[in-house]
Amino acid sequence: MTTGHVLLLGPPGAGKGTQSARVADSFDIVHITTGDALRARKDMETEFGTPREYMETGELVPDPVVNEIVKAAIDAADGFILDGYPRNREQAAYLDEITELDVVISLEVSREELLLRLTGRRICEDCGTNFHVEFTPPETEDTCDDCGGGLVQREDDSKETVEERLNVFEETTRPVIEHYRSHKSFHEIDGERSPAEVFESITTVLESALPGS
Ligand code: AMP
Repeated sequence: MTTGHVLLLGPPGAGKGTQSARVADSFDIVHITTGDALRARKDMETEFGTPREYMETGELVPDPVVNEIVKAAIDAADGFILDGYPRNREQAAYLDEITELDVVISLEVSREELLLRLTGRRICEDCGTNFHVEFTPPETEDTCDDCGGGLVQREDDSKETVEERLNVFEETTRPVIEHYRSHKSFHEIDGERSPAEVFESITTVLESALPGS
C-alpha cells in the first residue's frame, strides 16, 4: 500500500478516467474523479443551482461545490489519484492548500483526436464500460460486450458540447498545467497512443516517483 498523492491532468477525452482506474488498482490508491462524483450528484440542490445545469452545457460547476467534494474525498483517502480536478487556477490554489502532491502527470492529446474520441464514445448504462463506435465497437451494435446492457452517449458528448468543453479546457484549465510545470515531479506523457502504452509510461513514472511503491 502506498500513500502516493498523484494528480493526472489532461483535456476531456485524454483517457484520464481509464488510466486513473488502472493506476488506482495497480498501486492500491483511491481514484478521485470529480466528473463521476458530480454525475452522481447531478440534481443536488446548492446555492448555485444543481450541477446538471452546468454540466449539460459543458460549463464548469462552481468552485465551492467541487472543492467540498474533493476535500472530503482527499481527507478520507490515504493515497489517491485525482482526475478531472483542478480545472482552473482557483481550484489549483485550493488543492495546494489542502494537500501536497508527490507527482503530477499531464496527458497530451491533439484537439482533432479528442473530438473523434469524445463524439464516438458510448457508455454502458448498466456497468459503465466505455466503447467507441469506430475504435472499440461492441460486438453487437448498441449492446455492452460485458453485461448486455444498452449503450448510450453521454449527454455532454454531443459535438456542440464537446467543442465547448474543449474551449473551456484551453481557456481555463490549460493554465493549471502551466501552474504545475514547475512541480518537483512533473511529467508530460503522450496520450495519443494505445491505452496499454500510455499505462506503461505512467507506471514507469510512478514507480520511480512514489515513495514505497
Ligand atoms: P468530466 O467527466 O471530467 O469530463 O466532467 C464532466 C463535467 O463535470 C464537466 O464538463 C463539468 O461540467 C463538471 N466538472 C467535472 N470536474 C469539474 C471541476 N473540477 N470543476 C468544475 N466542474 C467540473
